[in-house]
Amino acid sequence: MSKLESVDTLVIGSGPGGYVAALRSSQLGMKTAIVERQQLGGVCTHVGCIPSKALIAESHRYDLFRQFNQADAAATFKIAQHFKQGVVNKQAGGVHYLLKTANVTILEGEASLVDEHTAMIQQTGQEQSISFKNLILATGSRPIELPAFPVGGRILSSTEALSLQEVPSSLVVIGGGYIGVELGQMYAKFGTKVTILEGGAQVLPGFEAELAAPVVKQLKADGIHIVTEAIAEKVEQKGDSITLHYSKNQEQHQVTAEYVLVTIGRKPNTDGQLELERIGLPVTNKGLVETDEQCRTVIPHIYAIGDITAGPALAHKASYEAKVAAEAIAGLTSKVDYKVIPLVVFSEPELSSVGVSETEAKAQAIPVVIGKFSFGINGRALALRETEGFVKIVADTTSGIVIGAQIVGVEASTLISELALAIEMGATVEDLAMTIHPHPTLGEVIMEAAENAVTKMKKKK
Ligand code: FAD
Repeated sequence: MSKLESVDTLVIGSGPGGYVAALRSSQLGMKTAIVERQQLGGVCTHVGCIPSKALIAESHRYDLFRQFNQADAAATFKIAQHFKQGVVNKQAGGVHYLLKTANVTILEGEASLVDEHTAMIQQTGQEQSISFKNLILATGSRPIELPAFPVGGRILSSTEALSLQEVPSSLVVIGGGYIGVELGQMYAKFGTKVTILEGGAQVLPGFEAELAAPVVKQLKADGIHIVTEAIAEKVEQKGDSITLHYSKNQEQHQVTAEYVLVTIGRKPNTDGQLELERIGLPVTNKGLVETDEQCRTVIPHIYAIGDITAGPALAHKASYEAKVAAEAIAGLTSKVDYKVIPLVVFSEPELSSVGVSETEAKAQAIPVVIGKFSFGINGRALALRETEGFVKIVADTTSGIVIGAQIVGVEASTLISELALAIEMGATVEDLAMTIHPHPTLGEVIMEAAENAVTKMKKKK
């Protein structure tokens, strides 16, 4: 076993948590190395956010061309896959470039912990050890696999579903969360007959019914068959098709398709080769690592960030924690504040949320005023033919301080940032209403929703 030089900070995993942590650590003057067993960029770049959004955007373009009878699904899908790979490669190249220019040492291989200050890196039979003063664990997550639905052949996880080379004729999606909805709708737009089976009462559980409704309407318009309160039980593979058995209202049903896609959640990569137990670092029964407000584990020089920690498994949450952990190592007082983590579903129409919802405010007995405005009477939305949906702002009744917001509609993914900033800065609905928004833009819907809340507050006085 050869010995590498020792570093101030070793980062294991190069997803949006790991590579951002390594960059920040190096920028703060610490000698930093990052180790990755697969590809730089992690799940987000290779089999998550980036490829899914590239294919979703291509499916929308195809959908538009199809309306003018100018598109062939099979040919367009091949182009879409090629385009997606190009986007992924560029993004991964960008991560490599950033790390190199920041003087971060990039190590290829699988890391295991030997002791509290040493890791071993294995690659194709070779072993190297590296010692570190501080460690940031950013090993991410992988799809949950159920014994009844072993991934392989015609059973796909999101990873395989992003790399099919042909448009499937039919697809059953188990799980109506955001990944199932995004990928199901993407394939439906390319002409696949899609069925989504969701165990709960509605797809996109966690979003209020009035927000999910415009998405459900569009999913149905795209030809997707949605079955809620459905429990997938087993599959039978026969030749080129697969039959999925499920129960609903205590009755047995079945649906046959070319592929089954399982999107029932993700599992943290804290088991296996990493050997956390060797250094006595505990994980919860879900495999998560517990951390304090500086992302520090119970071992003071070891930090954990991203999908292996509690909270939503999202790229921007991982990157945020990455900065806090690196800054904490550098002795800064940075700490996490989770009040503002935007959540986006890249469905059509898009759905986004930040802070507290009206339902959550009620449950927590927070008196709130709600401001709402529709895209239906916004000039820009009309010009874009994108009038579905609305903006909803949740504000404290007495102060008018914005504590939450939800958007369903065109560009909800982009628009939510203004509301995230409002919450972060402690802005009131009056601040939003009095901010001059350019005309004609979709942002005016936020201004109008805020105005709606201000009017309600004035009436109450
Ligand atoms: P990861 O990105 O999972 O990276 C961890 C890295 O660590 C991996 O590259 C892995 O190979 C490496 N690793 C693990 N163990 C070791 C080891 N022992 N040695 C060396 N390397 C190791 N999030 C969003 O915010 N927006 C989206 O639109 C979005 N879309 C998604 C779509 C899909 C289909 C999926 C699956 C996920 C999506 N996500 C999205 C979630 C997002 O991808 C994750 O939250 C994010 O990638 C987590 O970042 P991370 O740094 O914690 O880990």
